[in-house]
Amino acid sequence: MANESTDKNSDKHGDKNNLRIKAIENGTVIDHITPGQALNVLNILRVGANFTNTVSIVMNAGGSRGDKDVVKIEGRELTEKEVNAISLISPKATVNIIRDFEVVQKGKIETPDSVCGIVKCINPNCITNSSEPIETRFVVTENEKKKTLALRCVFCESVLTEDLIQFIE
Ligand SMILES: [Zn+2]
Repeated sequence: MANESTDKNSDKHGDKNNLRIKAIENGTVIDHITPGQALNVLNILRVGANFTNTVSIVMNAGGSRGDKDVVKIEGRELTEKEVNAISLISPKATVNIIRDFEVVQKGKIETPDSVCGIVKCINPNCITNSSEPIETRFVVTENEKKKTLALRCVFCESVLTEDLIQFIE
């Protein structure tokens, strides 16, 4: 019944309400994404044309300043690996897990000290790029000049600094 009256209400108010993003029943809201990174977040989650649930993307939310992106995904929760990968391109993001319209878990993403099996090494001669079954492992550091994250391969010492999204597997 509650749903019915809400629907009637939005009919009265016309299209304006329909444009608003509805609360999701089960899924994940990723908030405070670095502006411009929403599509990269979806790439990390491999949410693309074959994903059939509702996905809402808000880019440059928060008024004219546009200080964040937001992604809402119905029917999908994130693995730890996915959260770690997102932290590399959007360290200030928060992940909220929604079940039955309630936020059951809300948290700021923490950038891990190291990441395993998430990023591909830039060095073609790195042992992780050979036929050996070795998982990649990078220490997360800071690119002090640019105040962005940098990753150092523990096997070959290669350092990744620019556009980490292109190295995420
Ligand atoms: Zn390497």
